[in-house]
This record gives sequence, structure tokens and C-alpha cells, in this order.
Amino acid sequence: MTTTTSSPATATLPPLAELQQAYAELKARGLALDLTRGKPSAEQLDLAEPMLALPGVGQHTDDTGTDTRNYGGLDGGLAIRRIFAELLDVPVEQLLAGGNASLTLMHDVVAYAELFGFPESPTPWAREETVRWICPVPGYDRHFTICEALGIEMIPVPMTADGPDAEAVAALVADDPTIKGMWVVPTYSNPDGAVVTEDVARALVSMPAAAPDFRILWDNAYAVHHLTDDEVTSPNVLALAERAGNPDRVLLFASTSKITFAGAGVSFLASSPANLAWYKKHLSAASIGPDKINHLRHALFFGSAEGVREHMRRHREILAPKFEAVVQILAERLGAYGVASWTEPKGGYFVSLDVAPGTASRVVELAKEAGIALTPAGATHPYGKDPENRNVRLAPSMPPLEEVRTAMDGVATCVLLAAAEAGSAR
Ligand code: PMP
Repeated sequence: MTTTTSSPATATLPPLAELQQAYAELKARGLALDLTRGKPSAEQLDLAEPMLALPGVGQHTDDTGTDTRNYGGLDGGLAIRRIFAELLDVPVEQLLAGGNASLTLMHDVVAYAELFGFPESPTPWAREETVRWICPVPGYDRHFTICEALGIEMIPVPMTADGPDAEAVAALVADDPTIKGMWVVPTYSNPDGAVVTEDVARALVSMPAAAPDFRILWDNAYAVHHLTDDEVTSPNVLALAERAGNPDRVLLFASTSKITFAGAGVSFLASSPANLAWYKKHLSAASIGPDKINHLRHALFFGSAEGVREHMRRHREILAPKFEAVVQILAERLGAYGVASWTEPKGGYFVSLDVAPGTASRVVELAKEAGIALTPAGATHPYGKDPENRNVRLAPSMPPLEEVRTAMDGVATCVLLAAAEAGSAR
């Protein structure tokens, strides 16, 4: 469960003219700051710098005797799969290691379903009149892009502090065979930091679905990305699905993008033996094998699952102060006025800020004009449309701490001004 701060108003907003003056001063500073995307900072990337010397000249054979320089091995390197099987709590035989982007794996799974269908699909999805998909909101914009790119209609359902609203999802999928799947980010979700509880996970894997080929794309991108001592883990969803009699319902994804190098990490796919066989059958037409040298490089760098956990604690030392600054500045600058609420995540890469209804796009616009780039308003909703126009995703990982502070102070000024403008227009 993630904490959301929304204190009741104890003070009235400062007068509009005063806020306009504060904003003019902010603009006059000529800032150029960026809180748009959840990228690791250079300091975080430096933590993995020694990896650039691995595996090293002459070190190309892995511990199964495979020459990693050559073709082959669609499953990926065993050593890195062993490490991540432990971290993701899945059997190693049910885990594949792939290229550098889990997003590509997700895209390809949906694209293969469109082209060929899953084994139990009545027909390839592309031949269906309508294919629909459940998108918990606020959510990750690139998930929505995959749906849009592949012609899938999106149905928003609310996120709760315990994950997607499982009752709403169950009611939708029970009678509608056009709903073929849903997104879930189970740990420290993007953007609101929610962690799926065991009850929610169990409900999602057991609910009856009208579509025989209903799938959950379980994107565990932030499985080990803790910001506090409370290193939470999300439920063992593959085991729960199997126990519920729906072993093929879930495909689990993860990557080291925000562990080692965002552009040169390793992606993972875990699922039932039937889904993996299906995936590999189609993948084998596209690839003779993944980059096993990168798999070996990662395995040598980490050594063990504990090596990954240790490494992530060093990330936390860099990231936690930035998240603390965001939350502290929001509380100091906005807390008294009751015009905004925000999450206090225990992990992941984002703070989700809800501003006065109807003002999110104005906040982003004001910030932009003051030289502070924010993720576009609406990005956390399908089709870029936040019906209440109130959610803003904050991504404080990339800029140095002082810049995060400056940017957040500026964002707070924009939130107050937008709320006052909206109030005076009423
Ligand atoms: N899933 C989520 C929820 C993310 O937030 C991100 C990165 N912003 C990704 C996937 C991207 O993962 P990858 O780099 O492995 O493609």
C-alpha cells in the first residue's frame, strides 16, 4: 500500500495577484529543468560502470560451457536467469532472458496475439471485430501506446492503493469476450507507487473471463526498486494463477533497465510452459538468439540475487533524497490549502500529483513557460485524456537533488496559481 497525502485546507489560497507575482519571479529565473521521464541519473548509471569491462577479453564462455559469442539459446543465459528467477520468485525453467527492453517483449506478445492468437484463441485477434483491454488509471503511457499502435480499444479502471480495482475488472471481463487482457504494474506502479496485494492478485487470476484467451500482462518493472527499508514484494502471481486453474492467464515482465543501464540492460519474460512455448515458436521466426554476452556480463557483475539487492541499495541512496525533497516541498508549499494530494511512494520512480480538478494541463503549461518540463497532463490515461484533468506525473530521478528542489518549488507555485485562476474564473 502506498501513502497518499491529502490534508484538508487550513488556509485560503493567497490572492491571485500575489501568486501571479511569484510566478513572474519564477519565470524571470530562466530555468531549464526536466521532470518528464523516469530515467536513471548519470550518478546511478555510474554504479554499473565496471560492467563495461565485463565479461573481458577471453571471458566469453558461460558456466554451462556455452560460447556466448555465437548464435543460439532463445531462452537466454542460465546464470542471469537463475539470479532473476530468485528475485522475481518464479521457476528458472519458466523464465526467459531477452534483449534490452521489456517493452519490446510486451509489444511482441500482443503483436503475436494479433497475428496468430494464443493457442486457445478462437481466431487471431486482428480478425476480431473489436479487441478491448483494461487499463488501470493512472497508468504507464507506453502501455497505452502499445494498445493504440495495435488497434486495441482501452477501457480505464481505477487504481487503488492495493492495485487495480479488482471488482470493477471482474465485472467488466465476466460477460464481454472482446476484453482480451489488462495491464498490471504490481510493484511500485507507474505512477502512483501502489503495490498489488495478495487478495487483489488472487482475484485477478481467478475471476471468470468471457474471453477464453484473456491475458494479464504483469509488468514487474520495479520489483527491486525500493526507496525505504520496507522492501516489499508483490505476490507470486504465476503460482496463484496455476492454483486458480488459470495457469496461462499471466505473462510477467521485468528488466534491468533501471538497475544497470537503461539502454543496455536485460529483459525477462516469465509465464506458463504453454505460453513460453507459444512465445518462442513465434520468436524463432524473428531471432536466432539474444545477446548472451550481455547476459553473461550482467551475471558476472551481480554474482547473485543478493548482489542485485545490494546494488539497488546504492541506487536508493541516490534516489531516496530526491523523493524526500519532492514530498517535503509539496507538503510545505501546498499542504495548507487543500488544493492537491500526492503519493509518498516506497519505491519505483514516480510521485503522482493530483491538482485541483480541471487544472492539470494549466499546471503543466505554466511550468513549461517557466522552464520546467513535466510529463504532459493526461499522459497517465488512455488516449491522453484524463477526464478530470487533474493528474500530473512527477519523475525526480534524473536531475541532481538541488535541481529537483528548485523544480518542485516552481511546480508548487504553478499548482497554486492554476488553482487560484480556476477559482477566480468560477
Ligand atoms: N514498464 C514500466 C511500468 C515502466 O515504467 C518502464 C520504464 N519507464 C518500462 C516498463 C520500460 O522497461 P524497459 O526499459 O525494460 O523496456
